[in-house]
Amino acid sequence: MDRRRFLRRFAGAGATTAAGVVLGSAVTQAVANPYPPHLLDSVAPRSQRGKTSVYWSVDTTDRAIALTFDDGPTTRYTPAVLDILVEFEARATFFMIGVLAQRHPDLLARVVAAGHEIGNHSHEHISALRLDRAAVVDNIARAQSVLEQPAGTTVRWYRPPRGEITTATLIACGDLGLDIAFWTAQRGPRALADDDVAGVEQHLLSAAEPGAIVDLHDGIGTGSYDGKPNESLTLRRDTELAALPRILAGWRDAGFEIVTLSELVARQRSE
Ligand SMILES: [Zn+2]
Repeated sequence: MDRRRFLRRFAGAGATTAAGVVLGSAVTQAVANPYPPHLLDSVAPRSQRGKTSVYWSVDTTDRAIALTFDDGPTTRYTPAVLDILVEFEARATFFMIGVLAQRHPDLLARVVAAGHEIGNHSHEHISALRLDRAAVVDNIARAQSVLEQPAGTTVRWYRPPRGEITTATLIACGDLGLDIAFWTAQRGPRALADDDVAGVEQHLLSAAEPGAIVDLHDGIGTGSYDGKPNESLTLRRDTELAALPRILAGWRDAGFEIVTLSELVARQRSE
């Protein structure tokens, strides 16, 4: 969103606030809900040095897109995704769950050997909003040590489960030298049916733009390893996989190159 549009929207919210609707209720709610008890068990706040960057997209004029996959590696999706990527000579970034990388070291090695980039998607895929600070840090650090084990693998990126972060997330990323990658586009609007392959394809073809970060999946979150895969989520993942070849063909026809996140950032316009 550009700055002017954002400010216009903000001005709109102000008008609602003047009528006593939006801000009034938000403030009341904040005061009425102190920290839940489980969040009080935290590491002590401390001063911090260094920095971590947060990306939703990359500022570049190159026709390049970073395609990313979350929640793997899984035997159900990862090999199939790799085969499709080879066909289109596309390099992607795989945000892996530590527990799964530990369970499937062969798949981790295959992804690395194929020239793709590895990202950290936490060890147990639990939202930072549901963990105390120490557990947030521990989840990121444990996944990092699992993922960096194969020789020659450096992990530069963190993607938070459910896209939710806290101060502890930023501290851990700063300590480990990780930048945070959110995304420009996912499969489509919420209303899109779980099995709408054409809808996913159409959405992602229209989302193509220089510097976009696209977020798809080669796993189904915690359901990939706790034995309770959610049916609707599984169907969505099947649908993403079915749409993938058509999306890659469409992007290729539109002149886009599919690169890793670090490669996309290397093409950033200098200030
Ligand atoms: Zn995830």
